[in-house]
Amino acid sequence: MKIGGFIKQSLIDYPGKIVAVIFTQGCNFRCGYCHNPQLVLPELFENELSYTPDIIFQYLQEHKNWLDGVVVTGGEPTIHNDLPEFLKKIKDYGYLVKLDTNGSNPFILEKIIKNKLTDFIAMDIKTLPERDFYFEITGIQNIPDIAERIIASVILLKNSGVDVEFRTTRLPDIHTNEMMDFIRNFIGSDKRFVVNEYREGKTIDFYKNQSLNWKYLTGKATGLSP
Ligand code: SF4
Repeated sequence: MKIGGFIKQSLIDYPGKIVAVIFTQGCNFRCGYCHNPQLVLPELFENELSYTPDIIFQYLQEHKNWLDGVVVTGGEPTIHNDLPEFLKKIKDYGYLVKLDTNGSNPFILEKIIKNKLTDFIAMDIKTLPERDFYFEITGIQNIPDIAERIIASVILLKNSGVDVEFRTTRLPDIHTNEMMDFIRNFIGSDKRFVVNEYREGKTIDFYKNQSLNWKYLTGKATGLSP
């Protein structure tokens, strides 16, 4: 597991709980509005990270009586094949676990749910679950079955029995009211749906416009597996 950041204590990342937050490094998407480019673009990765899995697990062991849970977010946690083992170790300490995902890897999500390695999953739905819409918003074209994966993840989560939240970042001039209604209906009224409004900042598009070699930064060029 590659760790890109760690927050020792947060009151806002898991409803009603005091949690630590682990940021995994790397993502298979390149959403232009992403506010965590340092966790997504290899050129911006910090080489000398202060937190290793060992340091984090030691902290979690020592603070079992002070924290309710752990949030694992990214980047995109599910690109790491050892995610299930990583979550199991956290669960073995007795923590609640919340996992954030872009929904691109229903295979690993199924394994995690089946083995009861999470209590809460929050999934981004970037746009309509159609390939060309996803290619446009996520800035990648190397996952040809992305729409099928997103649909599979939504169905999986809806039937998972764990707490679930779906989220969409609404981009001006892109997400029409009709699109938002479709996504809401697709999720179903029995599941929590959070709409976040687009915010300007040092996003991936910001760095793209800073004339970095964009071709080199694409998922395909960096060899990141879907
Ligand atoms: S899925 Fe998109 S918004 Fe989320 S970390 Fe990856 S690039 Fe950023």
